[in-house]
Amino acid sequence: MSLSLYKKKRDFKQTPEPTGGKTQIGHLVFVIQKHAASSLHYDFRLEMEGVLKSWAVPKGPSINPADKRLAMLVEDHPYDYKDFEGTIAEGNYGAGRVIVWDNGTYEPLEDLEGKKAQEKHLLKQLEEGSLKFRLHGKKLQGEFALVRTHMGKNTWLLIKHRDEYAGTTDITRQNESVISGAVLEDVNKNNRTRTKSPPAEKKAGDVKKKPAKTPREKTKA
Ligand code: MN
Repeated sequence: MSLSLYKKKRDFKQTPEPTGGKTQIGHLVFVIQKHAASSLHYDFRLEMEGVLKSWAVPKGPSINPADKRLAMLVEDHPYDYKDFEGTIAEGNYGAGRVIVWDNGTYEPLEDLEGKKAQEKHLLKQLEEGSLKFRLHGKKLQGEFALVRTHMGKNTWLLIKHRDEYAGTTDITRQNESVISGAVLEDVNKNNRTRTKSPPAEKKAGDVKKKPAKTPREKTKA
């Protein structure tokens, strides 16, 4: 499976800092980071054009096609951000713990040869507000869609397509990091995670300053 390729690329033994900035492999990658900022959410990130297009999903992904999960489009994050796990220090935007909840490769549903062609297609779909793709993750598999709503250009929905990977179990109950095995609550309770600013510590990719976003609805998933 193509995942082995991805795994080989990096030794996940807690390298203290991400290195390099560009992917060397022939597959687009995705990552979902579980982030306990002022409110818990999952940052859903898709590699496109060397950066990570990012959505903050308060409730996290669902494998049930009946669920439509709110996904707020936030600013692009650097490619290296995909490996970040640790704590964003107090005082920084998005301060709080982060684990890599899932990762792997992804591709458009259409059979397009080569990463460049895939990216071109995906960027067009992004522009049009309807992204359809197939995930090859450790937790998430199969077809998903991200669809922009009419509630605003940054307001999208993350939806599982019906396929053999759909189901009704709550996938977020698998709460461990796919790179360290840590659960969010464990971050910084041992030495396996670091307490540094993430790469590009400008903004940590939350639902951007949205005071209207009902803090209490987001506190616990
Ligand atoms: Mn975040």
